[in-house]
Amino acid sequence: MRRLRNTKIVATLGPASNDYDTIRALHQAGADVFRLNMSHGSHDEIRERHRIIRKIEADLDSPIAILADLQGPKLRVGTFAKGEEELVVGAKFRFDLDPAEGDATRANLPHPEIFEALEPGQGLLVNDGKIRLKVLTCGADFADCEVMIGGTISNRKGVNVPDAVLNLAALSDKDRADLEFVCQLGVDWLALSFVQRPADVKEARKLADGRAAILSKIEKPAAVKAFDAILKVSDGIMVARGDLGVELPVHAVPPIQKDLVHKCRNAAKPVIVATQMLESMIESPMPTRAEVSDVAAAIYEGTDAVMLSAESAAGAYPIEAVQMMDSVAQSVEADPHYREVIEASRKSIRGSVADGIVAAAREIAETTDIKVICCFTESGTTALRVARERPRVPVIAMTSKRGTARRLALSWGTNCVMTGELERFKQAVVSAARAARLGGFATEADQIVVTAGVPFNVAGTTNILRVAPCQERLIYATDPG
Ligand code: PGA
Ligand code: MN
Repeated sequence: MRRLRNTKIVATLGPASNDYDTIRALHQAGADVFRLNMSHGSHDEIRERHRIIRKIEADLDSPIAILADLQGPKLRVGTFAKGEEELVVGAKFRFDLDPAEGDATRANLPHPEIFEALEPGQGLLVNDGKIRLKVLTCGADFADCEVMIGGTISNRKGVNVPDAVLNLAALSDKDRADLEFVCQLGVDWLALSFVQRPADVKEARKLADGRAAILSKIEKPAAVKAFDAILKVSDGIMVARGDLGVELPVHAVPPIQKDLVHKCRNAAKPVIVATQMLESMIESPMPTRAEVSDVAAAIYEGTDAVMLSAESAAGAYPIEAVQMMDSVAQSVEADPHYREVIEASRKSIRGSVADGIVAAAREIAETTDIKVICCFTESGTTALRVARERPRVPVIAMTSKRGTARRLALSWGTNCVMTGELERFKQAVVSAARAARLGGFATEADQIVVTAGVPFNVAGTTNILRVAPCQERLIYATDPG
């Protein structure tokens, strides 16, 4: 699916986007990555969404990334007999370990660690901090609270206890079961919630055992502090502003977002800016001006991807929300100021041969009239390096590995095309030319840049750069083959 923008869009699936037609329309409107949120939905529902995405991918011949988001040690309330209840300021409300459905006076909070750590006077926040309660008295299995800021509490809403230090494992039993389930289904990215330290990431990577790339969600103050070390052991990052903005003062989030996006680009690892991007579109066909500016700001900062949560999972306008992000991305990317910022923040990387080749590919493409950079990539690393360059011309990532094509769907600017394994360089040029023409990136009259590596089909070997006519015939009698 050719996009008219480089920034990618992640759309979370849910009750509002459960069927083939809606998910296909979301992809066609611009969703490059689908997020399966393991906090909601049964394994049967997740399996069905997964099946539909893979069917659409095959029907449209367009690689799609699936990101399974593990709940992590996220604290959530239980369920309510009526699905939801109104909490009024000044009212008393009890949380306890009783698994019975909640009502207007109490709710299940299935986390003994909270009751172990809570003390009277501490705050307990619900639903991204929208509802605030103060603990009056508490014991080993209950906390009686007073509602300080009211609102609607509903099934499985998130809970934060910013004042208490909780003794939580990185992956719960549910996470381990979910991880194994989604890895067997076959997902491209595994997102880890509430990462606190690099060891949390390593633990998940061991369990995933190469079956999925690992994306760390930064939503705890501890993760912000340990960010450099966490980035080193992760394949990608999510700036999870929802919980981050509850655990830290909300005004602390924008500088953190800027810093994380910047560091991820330098590390050539994709980053997603997430949560409340077009929040009002859950109910309204038009976002607020502030939301549009927020999406735009993330794109100006150079993020790889922007994400929709409830807007696409449970909102009334999932397709319109994707279209809105697509339009904002197109309009920002067409702004000369966008290029200025992107280019001013480009670091020249002195590392491997591949770093030199991709920098040269961008340089050549931009100083001449070349229409597209085609890079052959096995593991995806070369494509990630090209993406880090943020070139002015489009990038086609050519790979024989379906998993690589799918994973790269999250990264800035990569249009992924599947190829056969390479035997000769000429074959690489010919298939790159075909992909460039079929994708509408170039015509026979144009030239393209092709990068590849010898020996072929081995990761980490990029060492050839070739400028070639965009033609599928044998090119020169003296072609080196
Ligand atoms: P969540 O993560 O939607 O799973 O809570 C994103 C966030 O906290 O921003
Ligand atoms: Mn979160």
